[in-house]
Amino acid sequence: MTLLRVEGLDCRYGLLQAVRAVSFEIAQGEIVALIGANGAGKTTLLRAIAGAHKPLAGRVVFDGVDITRLPAHRRVSLGVALVPEGRRLFPGLTVEENLRVAASRRRGRWTVESVLEVFPLLRPRRQMPAAGLSGGEQQAVAIGRALMCNPRLLLLDEVSLGLAPVVVDAVYRSLAGVISEGATVLLVEQDLTRALKVASRVLCMLEGRIVLEGDSKSLDRDRIVSAYFGLRRAV
Ligand code: ATP
Repeated sequence: MTLLRVEGLDCRYGLLQAVRAVSFEIAQGEIVALIGANGAGKTTLLRAIAGAHKPLAGRVVFDGVDITRLPAHRRVSLGVALVPEGRRLFPGLTVEENLRVAASRRRGRWTVESVLEVFPLLRPRRQMPAAGLSGGEQQAVAIGRALMCNPRLLLLDEVSLGLAPVVVDAVYRSLAGVISEGATVLLVEQDLTRALKVASRVLCMLEGRIVLEGDSKSLDRDRIVSAYFGLRRAV
């Protein structure tokens, strides 16, 4: 069953077109990695799906409902949650408070307790202000906060950014727990090896367009690298 359908999406910042005629679908339960060089348009695309950036043209259809004109908070209540680049926690609130502010009325598997189960590194930090956490711990809170809305679609923007490899491993181990619960995920990941490992399908963006799409098991790595850098072989 198709959960998300993006049709001919165009996004601009003034004269700069960041997303160009982007169309793709994500089925329920799929894990899709969005890759591409800096400035390819990945963050803008995620923000447009979440309702944080108003597209110039095109449609975003979620579970058969056209949500293109819905504000972000209405999309959250339908089950679309974004973990933004840079985490954006409330620094003065504790870990638990940061999680609780996001709790929605959508029923589901995720509560403070179940988030702490998949992110055990947060348990001893539960009553600490977010400002005092390490980067990896903050990322775990950011993902946990998105889970607290019991999303049907989780949009993750560069969860590895600025984290030491060993911390990224821990965050991805926890994400594997989230994924095994049957989540549908669209994630931006700069590390190609990691993206191919976690996702069943890959979308590669270049200068605002999707230039390559395919199954992560069958796509040839050289072809992905060519698409990523815009070399002719990809086409
Ligand atoms: P990165 O990996 O660097 O985050 P990205 O693939 O996520 O890159 P975007 O952040 O979506 O790409 O940026 C796409 C284009 O839009 C880039 O040319 C970028 O400079 C531009 N852009 C992004 N945000 C803004 C903004 N707020 N105002 C103006 N231009 C922007």
